[in-house]
Amino acid sequence: MSRSHFVFLTGAGMSAESGVPTFRDGLTGLWSRFDAETLATPQAFRRDPALVWGWYRWRASQLLQVQPNAGHDGIAELAQRGHRVNVVTQNVDDLHERAGSTKVVHLHGELLRSRCIDCGARAEPDPITLNLHPPEGGGHETPPACTVCGGPFRPDVVWFGEALPEAEWEAGMEAIAACDRVVVVGTSGLVQPAASLPLVAREMGKPVLEINPNPSALTPSVDDYWPMTASAGLARLLQEYPPHTS
Ligand SMILES: [Zn+2]
Repeated sequence: MSRSHFVFLTGAGMSAESGVPTFRDGLTGLWSRFDAETLATPQAFRRDPALVWGWYRWRASQLLQVQPNAGHDGIAELAQRGHRVNVVTQNVDDLHERAGSTKVVHLHGELLRSRCIDCGARAEPDPITLNLHPPEGGGHETPPACTVCGGPFRPDVVWFGEALPEAEWEAGMEAIAACDRVVVVGTSGLVQPAASLPLVAREMGKPVLEINPNPSALTPSVDDYWPMTASAGLARLLQEYPPHTS
């Protein structure tokens, strides 16, 4: 079989089998009286930076306790078998990277990164992962101040009301335009504008496969639908694209 170029569009269902706590799972203890929607906004951060920074530090600490699953591994394996593989994910976790995928675009940012809210400066090592031992249930933590302008560091995730990062969006579109096959894994097909990418792919004439345990808003529009988990779907895909023998 010849080499193929895949684009994987992945969402929450991709990481579900790893046990990644969802957005709402983080709303325990101190945060139980908040809605995720009211914590994950620029306004919430300006109002109480220590509350929001503490919440994201808690979520980052939870992420570091889980591992990539067979679905993440399967995507990385396709690249190891010589195929071109781009991953365009809505997930803020780093499980694709930890599984070995190298071309990963994060449409909604990354939980383990942060930047100055005012000038965009970053710091090494990233302060959002530094001394990550939040108390059980989390707590207030004052975000570090930027050494350039003094502004507070914020999580590098896309909050409600914010635009997607332009470079990541463009990279995703370019990958789709260049690929042979698009595989959608574990997305609800509801979160815009990311949900429009499979439809863009269809308009470009790319075959789209959806892997989801349950049908989504997208299912009526795809070429092929496999009703299964990410790990089962990737196992089946790997059978379709066996290793090269020389
Ligand atoms: Zn700054």
